[in-house]
Amino acid sequence: MSRLRFDVVQDAFKKKAVAVDIPAEKVSEYFGELVFNRDKMQKYLDEKTFGRLVNCIDNGEALDRKTADLVAAGMKTWALEHGVTHVTHWFQPLTEGTAEKHDSFMEYDGKGGMIESFDGKSLVQQEPDASSFPNGGIRATFEARGYTAWDPTSPVFIQDDTLCIPTVFISYTGEALDYKTPLKKSIKAVTEAALPICKLFNPKVKKVFSYLGWEQEYFLVDEDLFAARPDLMLAGRTLMGHAASKNQQLDDHYFGAIPSRVAAFMRDIEIAGYKLGIPLKTRHNEAAPNQFELAPIYGEANLANDQNQMMMNVMNTIARKHGFVVLFHEKPFEGINGSGKHNNWSLGTDTGTPLLAPGKDANGNLQFITFFVNVLAAVQKHNALLKASVGSATNEHRLGGGEAPPAIVSAFLGKTMTDVLRKLLTVPSDTPIEIVGKKGASVGLVEIPEIFLDNTDRNRTSPFAFTGNRFEFRAVGASANCAGAMTTLNSAVAEQLLDFKQAVDREMASGKAMNIAVMDCLKPIIRDVLDVVCFDGNGYCEKWKIEAERRGLDTETNVPKLFKAFTEKKSVDMFTRLGVFSEVELQARNEVKWGTYSKKVQIEARVVGRMSINHIIPVALEYQTKLLKNIDLMRASFPEEYKDMAATQIGIVREISALVTDVRTKVDAMIGERIKANAIADEYNKALAYYEIGRSLLEIRKSLDQLEEIVDDDRWPLPKYREILFIN
Ligand code: ADP
Ligand code: MG
Repeated sequence: MSRLRFDVVQDAFKKKAVAVDIPAEKVSEYFGELVFNRDKMQKYLDEKTFGRLVNCIDNGEALDRKTADLVAAGMKTWALEHGVTHVTHWFQPLTEGTAEKHDSFMEYDGKGGMIESFDGKSLVQQEPDASSFPNGGIRATFEARGYTAWDPTSPVFIQDDTLCIPTVFISYTGEALDYKTPLKKSIKAVTEAALPICKLFNPKVKKVFSYLGWEQEYFLVDEDLFAARPDLMLAGRTLMGHAASKNQQLDDHYFGAIPSRVAAFMRDIEIAGYKLGIPLKTRHNEAAPNQFELAPIYGEANLANDQNQMMMNVMNTIARKHGFVVLFHEKPFEGINGSGKHNNWSLGTDTGTPLLAPGKDANGNLQFITFFVNVLAAVQKHNALLKASVGSATNEHRLGGGEAPPAIVSAFLGKTMTDVLRKLLTVPSDTPIEIVGKKGASVGLVEIPEIFLDNTDRNRTSPFAFTGNRFEFRAVGASANCAGAMTTLNSAVAEQLLDFKQAVDREMASGKAMNIAVMDCLKPIIRDVLDVVCFDGNGYCEKWKIEAERRGLDTETNVPKLFKAFTEKKSVDMFTRLGVFSEVELQARNEVKWGTYSKKVQIEARVVGRMSINHIIPVALEYQTKLLKNIDLMRASFPEEYKDMAATQIGIVREISALVTDVRTKVDAMIGERIKANAIADEYNKALAYYEIGRSLLEIRKSLDQLEEIVDDDRWPLPKYREILFIN
């Protein structure tokens, strides 16, 4: 085995970059080639059908069956030109990743031959046997029917030989069984709640959009080394492994030159992404060795999230071509940074006005402050829920793990905006908010320096940071579907905006001018958020935890407990009022989350147990035997002095015995705890039991990693951190 490890490491090191087929055309020429976008609609649909489809996409008008047939026919023609043979509804169940069930276009033509067929009915709705997807008890298995329904706002795309139709996934009784359905509902809620407020400032606004720009962090490991680690294979992360002598302390990876094998991989995924119409913009090395990041230009949130899921699939597939495996796990390696997926979130109007950036004049600035402050209020009110929305068995190792984000949801404003808010509290409500620099001399009492527009303070320790024209929700995990976080954030903001508008209406009804009414309503909120949720200090320091508790922010770190926030009254009230989730859905989803949590820890626990007993203890004992033989020979040759001469060997023999005993005892105890946990019927209590088992794995790991430090390197069966993390 040890020889094998050496060979694998050598081979991995020698691998060269794989050549990439770079299209001859410019990116702008093949961008979106595999997407049935508006250009294709226009080309493949007659004018009337095109008009109806656009009306359906933009205004939510229902499609009649005949139009759906015509749309399907146009899609089929386009797909056949690309060699497509199959079609699938593509959806996002409550597992990780996406689901698809391919059906070929083949049908009998009734004349003894075959024909390619695809009609409106198969485009619009399908009924996959859904009993094997997580549903939290919503559907008993005998009632296995769920259905998928086309989401026309996400364009149809081609993946290999398959036409993929983005769909929602719903139970027969109407409950959402996926991520997309509630995300769409929350987008509707927040954009509709924002609209009347925008109209106060500009009556011409007809529509508000919710935007998402995701930054996907990931690790790459060589596939041969990956295959030599059962923990990476089964749990997606290393469950043991001593830190390498060098890791990220020299800060030499971040923004460093991209290794050639990785650069080829990045080029390849970008080409695939561009063909799928994904506007990829940024690629760079991240802080940890072997860690990288990919980010597109932000877009409408539902589409942007689909694109993130598409990209994750593309990355998984293309990595193998380059001899890599992608790790989306939030904490694949101990002692170095984990991976997040910052969700850059904002709102904007159909008139092109961003709602979270300073405006052109005092009116625009007041609008900005209005949305800015209301977002803060929403984050404050639902800080526990927002944390719950990013909680998972995998992100748990990153939340509060001494890297962004800490396990307390506060908001970072930066000095500029904090000063603006403080100032607003001291001036009359009709004071115009000016941007200094635009008009030369300062005119107003409340000023936003123009430089601020490009100068966004960076505080990497904040889970929710204002970065100039958007908020960056940094607590989202790399493996997560962004919808979990975005649905919660959109809903919290929607609720806040509805309440705020009512308050403003009351003030205006009493005769106040709009700007005064708005500012009078904002002031108490500003006072409150500055005292509670706004925090620009170091989110990692212990003192913050005490201070946060004093401020009434949620400091819970136990993930199964966090999920309870979803069924608390204030969350249920909010979600049901907005029509995003029913109470049944919230309960069912928590059941799914607890179930997934327990299963993930259970898998890790099994892997740790087996690796301890089958991999580590045997090599430790083998090495111990070698030492004992040496001691024996010493005694034979130097009967008088051997105890002194073999003192080191004897010491290591004792150490190995102690560590092996410790590992075995703890593994046995852990297995006992698993048996007890498995007997618990209630998903919540079972998850709590597995939470404790998760802690015990860390204890076992300590001894395993100590063994790695003393056992003969030649015999060690697993590729070590230094071997996995530095070869590209
Ligand atoms: P960072 O410096 O935070 O790492 P990146 O360039 O990696 O920044 O990513 C920033 C992301 O934020 C990109 O996806 C970008 O398109 C997105 N973004 C920029 N402006 C907005 C906005 N107004 N709303 C939402 N997302 C935005
Ligand atoms: Mg970034």
